[in-house]
Amino acid sequence: MVLAELGGRISSALQKMSNVTVIDQKAVQECINEINRALLQSDVSFKLVQTLASNLKKTVNPDDLAAGHNKRKIMQQAVFNELCGLLDPGKPSYTPKKGKQCVVMFVGLQGSGKTTTCTKYAHYYRKKGFKPSLVCADTFRAGAFDQLKQNATKANIPFFGSYTETDPVVIAQSGVEKFKKENSDLIIVDTSGRHKQEASLFEEMRQVSEVTKPDLIIFVMDSSIGQAAFDQAQAFKQSVPVGAVIITKMDGHAKGGGALSAVAATKSPVIFLGTGEHMDEFEPFDVKPFVSRLLG
Ligand code: GDP
Repeated sequence: MVLAELGGRISSALQKMSNVTVIDQKAVQECINEINRALLQSDVSFKLVQTLASNLKKTVNPDDLAAGHNKRKIMQQAVFNELCGLLDPGKPSYTPKKGKQCVVMFVGLQGSGKTTTCTKYAHYYRKKGFKPSLVCADTFRAGAFDQLKQNATKANIPFFGSYTETDPVVIAQSGVEKFKKENSDLIIVDTSGRHKQEASLFEEMRQVSEVTKPDLIIFVMDSSIGQAAFDQAQAFKQSVPVGAVIITKMDGHAKGGGALSAVAATKSPVIFLGTGEHMDEFEPFDVKPFVSRLLG
C-alpha cells in the first residue's frame, strides 16, 4: 500500500466511526483495527502498530468522554499525534553549520541510493552557501567511484577517490584530510554497501567511522524494502551511531511504513526524502506537514 492509500484508509476508518449512531467501545475498537490493518499493510512494524493501538485506546475512551464531544475529531487528533510521535524521535539531528568544518558519513545497503543521495545532499548544501566535498570510500562495488565522480562533476563538487587503493579506511582518511586542508566545511564520505547485512560490512563501517570521526552518520534506506526496514535500520544503528535517516525512492511504489519503522529503530529523525533519480529530487523532511498530508 502506498502512502497516499494509507492516509485514505485511515481517513475512511475515521469516517466510518463517525457514521455510526453511537460511538461506543465497539465502534472505537473497529476503527483502531482498521487503522492497524492499514499500517501493517504499509509495512509499519508489528510492534509499533501494537503500541500505537494501545495508546489510541487509552486516549480515546468513549466512556470517559461526555456526550457533546466530537469523538471523531478526538480520534483524528489522537491518530495524528501518534503518527507524529512515531516519526519524531524527540531530538533533532546534527545539522552542518556554514564555515564550521564537519564530516558526514553515509551508510546503507547496496542499491539503497547512497551514492546518489550523497551528491544530492552536497548539492542541497552548496545551494545554501556551503563548500561541500565528496569522498568515495566505496571500494566494494565496481564502478562506485566512477559513479560518484560523474555525479560530482555534473554538480561541480570536488571529489576524492582511488582506482588503485583497495582499503576504504585509507581512502576515507586521506580524503577527509585533503578536504580539511582545502577548507571544505562539509566533507561527505560515501561508504561501501553490501547486498545484505554482513559482519564484514559493519566492521568496515566502524573502521571508517573511527578514522573520519564523523559529526553525523546518515543511514540511507530504500523506501520499498517493506517489513525488513525495522531490523535493517536497527542492525546499522547497533554498529555505528546513526544520527539521521534519509528515505529514498519515495517517488516509486513506496510503502511509507518503512520510514516510520526506521525512525523507531534508530531513534533518529528522517531529514530528507529522495523523490527521483535527479539531483534536485530531494526534499527536506518535516514531521507535521508530512503527517497532515498523509491524513489529508
Ligand atoms: P548505492 O548502491 O546505495 O550507492 O545506490 P545508488 O546511488 O547507486 O542508487 C541505486 C539506484 O537507485 C540508481 O539507479 C539510482 O538512480 C536510484 N535512485 C536513488 N535514489 C532514488 C530516488 O529517490 N528515486 C528513484 N526513483 N531512484 C533513485
